[in-house]
Amino acid sequence: MLALYFAGKSGREFVAAVDLAAPASEGARRLLNVFASVVSVGLDNVELVGRLNAAAFTDPLTRLPNRTRLVEALDAAVAAAGEHDATLDLVDLDHFAETNDALGHGFGDLLLVAVAQRLQQQLDPRLTVARIGGDIFAVLGDSALNTPEALDALFAVPFSIDGQDVQVSGTFGLVRLAEHDGSGADALKDADIALKRAKTQQRGGHFYFSRGMGVEIRERVRLMHALRSGFKGGELYLAYQPQVDLATHRPFGAEALLRWRTADGRMIPPDRFIPIAEYSGMIVEIGAWVLREACAELVRLHQAGHEAFTMSINVSQVQFRHPHFVEVLRRALDETGAPPEYVELEITESMAMEEPQQLADLLAQVKRTGVSIAIDDFGTGFSSLSHLQRLQVDRLKIDRAFVTEITGSARGSSIAEMVIQLGRNLGLSIVAEGVEDERQAQILHALGCPLAQGYLFARPLAPQDLLAWLGQQPVERAA
Ligand code: C2E
Ligand code: CA
Ligand code: CA
Repeated sequence: MLALYFAGKSGREFVAAVDLAAPASEGARRLLNVFASVVSVGLDNVELVGRLNAAAFTDPLTRLPNRTRLVEALDAAVAAAGEHDATLDLVDLDHFAETNDALGHGFGDLLLVAVAQRLQQQLDPRLTVARIGGDIFAVLGDSALNTPEALDALFAVPFSIDGQDVQVSGTFGLVRLAEHDGSGADALKDADIALKRAKTQQRGGHFYFSRGMGVEIRERVRLMHALRSGFKGGELYLAYQPQVDLATHRPFGAEALLRWRTADGRMIPPDRFIPIAEYSGMIVEIGAWVLREACAELVRLHQAGHEAFTMSINVSQVQFRHPHFVEVLRRALDETGAPPEYVELEITESMAMEEPQQLADLLAQVKRTGVSIAIDDFGTGFSSLSHLQRLQVDRLKIDRAFVTEITGSARGSSIAEMVIQLGRNLGLSIVAEGVEDERQAQILHALGCPLAQGYLFARPLAPQDLLAWLGQQPVERAA
């Protein structure tokens, strides 16, 4: 009889008794010794791997499955979505950050553990509960059990933390896996989109992800990437829409309008891509390029003999508010040699209504470069007279909607007329935009609006076409 001893960590050593016909030789004993210690090390490793695994898939604070484990479970649930109607629900604790700051991280941790326990103990055991980070939990399982109502009920009773009753509420973002195509990780993303939407709508509420939402957001993200590379790849260019004197129909200037033609020849309208450029911050860089490009074109037009021609350039709010805007403007003027007195910046009326003093200061700085300022889309907001005066604007652009209204509605010319009167009283220049027919032009002129822009005169034109168009017009008037 021979006894083999296998040493092991954490009290898991054991002994094996082996029947032998004859005593083992010295050589055999040594080999058996080595064998026993190799087995011991092997067993220790198995246990270690087990523990590493558990750590990789468990949230250490709450002992719940973590994000990695949830994604695995989601992959399985997505694969089985045909047979089981499952829902993923993300639970975001409302005002957790404030609680954490006010009462300390220790308290925050206790609260998270309490929420974890309640979710796990009081929800149907067939549902999987996970903590996927910070104050966000996930519940996965049968759609009939995993509902916002079931979760709301759990949060109705206060949590007892450190002897105190704490009332906590949650905001939920849900996705029905049947409503979703893609991997488990994609389902998690969709639920996150729904959660963000729920949070912006109302805390303590819930929102179900819909296919339309995902498509819309993915499309926006796709467009954002395309715009970034399109801008680098030179797919953006400027078109110039002439502005004319209504009395003589002589051109005096143009508005630079941004265009995007993608590599496959599609035109994406500015109303679609400019909001994306603004949202992503790209407008700062794109807008700087627009300023330089439009100034350079102005110089070329002057050199081509259109000496008094003016250039109007649209500036978006994000761009305008950027701390380096005035510097960027100055550089565009300097580097192209564009004379500032022939350059006009168009800012929208909604911008003009924000933080009056700050805007007035900024505009004063901008005006010191020598350029002038127009308020675009005028009439859509509610700027007050005194406010406009303080901003030192030079020109109002009557929004197209009011120009259309002149001939389109029984109410007649009321708003356009008011804007024209207002501008005249303040000594501002006035230009009407979106003039499409002769009657509108006549009425505007009769109402005292001296300048206009619109399809009646010309569409936005490529630089070459603008030059050709200018060649056919009556001689320009001095602005
Ligand atoms: P906006 O500044 O109000 O520009 C006038 C828009 O009216 C232009 O649309 C122009 O093509 C269109 N338009 C001109 N005449 C007529 C007309 O007679 N009838 C009709 N139906 N439309 C007319 P577009 O080029 O699509 O630009 C849309 C908006 O995109 C612009 O509105 C402006 O807000 C923005 N945008 C364009 N270029 C730039 C730019 O370089 N920078 C910034 N920040 N925004 C720009
Ligand atoms: Ca404009
Ligand atoms: Ca406008």
